[in-house]
Amino acid sequence: MLIVLRSDASAADHARVVALITSLGFQSHTIPGAQRNAVAIVGNDGRLDAARFSALPGVEDVIHISRPYRMVAREWRREPTVVRFPSGESIGADALFVVAGPCSVETEAQIFATARAVKRAGVSALRAGAFKPRTSPYAFQGLGLAGLELLARVREETGLLIVTEALDEEGLDRVAEVADVVQIGARNMQNFALLKRAGRAGKPVLLKRGMAASLTDLLLSAEYVLSEGNPNVILCERGVRGLEASRTLFDLNAIPAVKSLSHLPILADPSHATGKRALVPAAARAAIAAGADGLLIEVHVQPDAALSDGAQSLYPEQLEVLMGELRGIAAAIGRSLPTAP
Ligand code: PEP
Ligand code: MN
Repeated sequence: MLIVLRSDASAADHARVVALITSLGFQSHTIPGAQRNAVAIVGNDGRLDAARFSALPGVEDVIHISRPYRMVAREWRREPTVVRFPSGESIGADALFVVAGPCSVETEAQIFATARAVKRAGVSALRAGAFKPRTSPYAFQGLGLAGLELLARVREETGLLIVTEALDEEGLDRVAEVADVVQIGARNMQNFALLKRAGRAGKPVLLKRGMAASLTDLLLSAEYVLSEGNPNVILCERGVRGLEASRTLFDLNAIPAVKSLSHLPILADPSHATGKRALVPAAARAAIAAGADGLLIEVHVQPDAALSDGAQSLYPEQLEVLMGELRGIAAAIGRSLPTAP
């Protein structure tokens, strides 16, 4: 950490900064400048709160030199994290991992038909929410435990891995009993109590980026899960808040940026990132080309009748076409996509 002093800072202001550093058990090193002085803190392991210094008289700025997260950082672990499932699939290795399915579990017929359709297209896992975080309290909130039971039966019948969301701490343990991957949604990305619980869940966690979260925020949230003992975190770029006309902006840059900062795998969600069916395939292809480890795509057998996110859900036939295109892109960048059964 570097404490930059104002150009008119007095000797007493300087001495106060140095005294605080010493009292906290660190060494200080003053770097004189033509216009202003700066004081470097030597030995800070990242736990020091910048606010201790930024409010002191004579302080212009506090600059972080090292990153605030540790276990999720590339420096902590050189080789990429590969999340492995007992069934043999993995996320983060050369093979891409595609998750597809409806936004919500709606009925037995809907979830079974969609699961069979996405399996035919060659995806590894089914996504579908039983507990839905809806912007309006009057919108469909999900089937709850009944939805989880349906997902357990779908897995039994199809062999697909199940990715489904946990909304709260008590619900997380129930979700973790059924899910192969516990999803934490954009709105809960900074629900720190939920993240800690997910850190003890014993299942991989899919952590979606908050709609207004920086990459540092995202990685610090992942750090919560790792620091509780769960190394199996998969990040997900799902678009950030845009202007009214384009509700969300797909932050494609986030994919290579996260890869350079962290060893954790990252998926892209082109469905929530675009909000429109017509835009989903292009965003999906771009994400894979940009280095994503896979995708989370909304697919519905009858999107017009969907209880949530129908407008961004692909028809199963569109998913099949897209999977073929992704196979070509994967081959071009030295990756692979499992072939349809
Ligand atoms: C979802 O995956 O259906 C969902 C609610 O996503 P997000 O949390 O990214 O909005
Ligand atoms: Mn959705």
